[in-house]
Amino acid sequence: MATEQERLAKIQSTYKTIRRSVPAHVTIVLACKKRHPDEVRAVIEAGATDLGQNYVQEAESIIEALGDQAAGARWHMIGPLQKNKINKALRLFDVVQTVSSPKQAREIQKRAAVMGKLLSVCIEVNIGAESAKSGVTPERDDVVALAREIAPMENLRLEGLMTMGPFFEDPEAIRPYFRKTREIFDHIRSLGEPGTDLSVLSMGMSDSYEVAIEEGSTMVRLGTIVFGPRPA
Ligand SMILES: *Cc1c(COP(=O)(O)O)cnc(C)c1O
Repeated sequence: MATEQERLAKIQSTYKTIRRSVPAHVTIVLACKKRHPDEVRAVIEAGATDLGQNYVQEAESIIEALGDQAAGARWHMIGPLQKNKINKALRLFDVVQTVSSPKQAREIQKRAAVMGKLLSVCIEVNIGAESAKSGVTPERDDVVALAREIAPMENLRLEGLMTMGPFFEDPEAIRPYFRKTREIFDHIRSLGEPGTDLSVLSMGMSDSYEVAIEEGSTMVRLGTIVFGPRPA
């Protein structure tokens, strides 16, 4: 039976091993939903720079618990952002990866303007058109339209696209979905319009990040593979 200290050391060495194996241009966002602040502190001490959270409330308690250590990291909202949580999210997060409608973008812009905050955002694409997942529909023109809405917003900086993709046992099966997301990403870049010079393609999780990187991902979101199975 490993001690708690050994368990945290294992998380650190796993993170470092994965960091070394992933190309340097690919950002690793550690998905820390349901993790104890000690586990999050451990990855920060191991060199993690970017942390993801699905829930505003959880992000708040972890960030409070970590104090200055949290302040040195970049925090990404990777879960759906409810309207009534926007103000709190703006205080906690540097990036919201899950913008999925013009209406939501306008709400975030309005509140960011009041706070005088410049927020980085990604458009979440529901590339599998799954009813249980959020994000803009995978029609290329719908994603372009949302990018054009966000581009002129003063307090939002559109950095890229994010997708989850459908879950498959076989990670190869998700490849066409990542490829399609990449094509939309390239298309928007090719338009060369102001404010849409995308640099972030956030796709790939523990079971699919290698395939995602092969398909052009520049940002992977990893939880289980670093921290171990999530507590129920
Ligand atoms: C939980 C989560 C991840 C990480 O999932 P793992 O399979 O644990 O790596 C990535 N992205 C989002 C949006 C998540 O909610």
